[in-house]
Amino acid sequence: MDFLEKYRECFEEYDRMPHDFIDDDKIWEQLNKWENPTKEDVRRVLKKAEQCIRLEPEETAILIQNKDEETLQEMFSLAHSLKEEVYGNRMVFFAPLYISDECANNCKYCGFRSDNASIHRKTLTPEEIEQEVRIMIEEGQKRTVLVYGESPATGIDFICDTVNQVYNVKSEHGEIRRANINCAPLSVEELKQLKSVGIGTYQVFQETYHHETYRKMHPAGTIKGHYRWRLYVMDRAQKAGVDDCGLGVLFGLYDWRFEIMGLLYHTIHLEETFGGVGPHTISFPRINPATDTPFSEHPEYAVSDSDFKKLVAILRLSIPYTGLICTARESVEMRKEVVPFGVSQIDAGTRIGVGAYAQSKCANQMPNKEQFSIGDTRSLDDVVREMGEMDFIPSFCTACYRAGRTGEHFMKVAKSKFVRNYCVPNAILTLKEYLLDYASEETKQVGNEVLKKQVEQFKGKPVYDKILENLSRIEQGERDLRL
Ligand code: SAM
Ligand code: SF4
Repeated sequence: MDFLEKYRECFEEYDRMPHDFIDDDKIWEQLNKWENPTKEDVRRVLKKAEQCIRLEPEETAILIQNKDEETLQEMFSLAHSLKEEVYGNRMVFFAPLYISDECANNCKYCGFRSDNASIHRKTLTPEEIEQEVRIMIEEGQKRTVLVYGESPATGIDFICDTVNQVYNVKSEHGEIRRANINCAPLSVEELKQLKSVGIGTYQVFQETYHHETYRKMHPAGTIKGHYRWRLYVMDRAQKAGVDDCGLGVLFGLYDWRFEIMGLLYHTIHLEETFGGVGPHTISFPRINPATDTPFSEHPEYAVSDSDFKKLVAILRLSIPYTGLICTARESVEMRKEVVPFGVSQIDAGTRIGVGAYAQSKCANQMPNKEQFSIGDTRSLDDVVREMGEMDFIPSFCTACYRAGRTGEHFMKVAKSKFVRNYCVPNAILTLKEYLLDYASEETKQVGNEVLKKQVEQFKGKPVYDKILENLSRIEQGERDLRL
């Protein structure tokens, strides 16, 4: 069967819809209406954001269009405190694992696009997957996101097999406890299959919400060329029972202000359609240069560093209960700057070539096997230490997902600010494991200070004794304890 053919009927169904939930003209009207908001307009919105309530599009438009330095600082500072309030001062760590760069699509910005003859195509064998995962585990990773191109050879059966292979690798100290997925949009049946192998979050980035730009970036005649097939993938995921969904935009394809509105409309659509369940995470990658991919060198709508900081804070304020992921595409300096404005997850020790964990010590050393080049090539140990120095608790926790706290349940927990009470103790326990099993002496020192300070904060609370008991059990060799 033709590769495109398998989704033909679904495509036709989407084509018949008179419109979708992204109205380009309306978004621009809202942005134009608030082109010059006053300090009072901004402060009115911040007052609402303070209550951790998801903002409405016009309110977000006000924040987006705000250029006043004084109220911008107020936005940054509120974003910081909302992050602390909803997520505590944890920083969750993960690393990507690229399984295959075979791709039938031809996205203008991506090193894996089918036209790119410079890329050495590779799909990991089961033995190679085991080797990659073993190295990741030995570096201290507990969470991964598995990344795939879109090709007939790497369809749903292949994806499910690889998820099983990843979970089956056990090393002396540990295992991957949560495998998220970043792959092409799937059908409801395929998503049900994916759910059955126990994935964490299912991520699909819309890339751009702007219809015309989407068409320009993704040639017709490819699966990715179908805007609505991608736009409605999280609806299909919810129908299939995959309720932890990760949205994202590739910043640089179109005006960042429009894209933030697109993410917000997508969130509202999911909340309205699925009983209040919005996205579990939002990613906001900026385009990085990719081998022999001219578009990626000079994207037309490249986002400046100052706009980037602003957009992260706006996401935090507008969609307060959703995790924000800042990847190693960003430089060390930029990550350090934006992390306090609301980021809840980062990757570290990242290698993005297919087979790269076994072949090189850090990223950007295999350009003809990597999707793009990254900005932060430090080891996991270095980034864990830095986060500790910045007063974050590095966390490797996977408890919620394994206790079934996903989707609707997770949203309620997060919304009602209970995340801190579950997650901070579990972050403490997983940091303890990391320090004992993998950390350098320098990182141990910083990490132990963090632990001491964090544990102190629970003194007098019911959970305090439980934390102490679990810490001592971990010291005696037990692993994978959680509240
Ligand atoms: N192939 C699948 C897809 O396109 O949805 C999933 C994996 S793709 C490898 C993951 C994401 O990488 C894409 O959704 C896109 O946002 C991002 N990406 C592609 N090219 C990039 C570039 N040059 N710089 C930064 N991110 C890029
Ligand atoms: Fe393929 Fe994804 Fe790259 Fe597009 S972004 S060319 S679909 S790997």
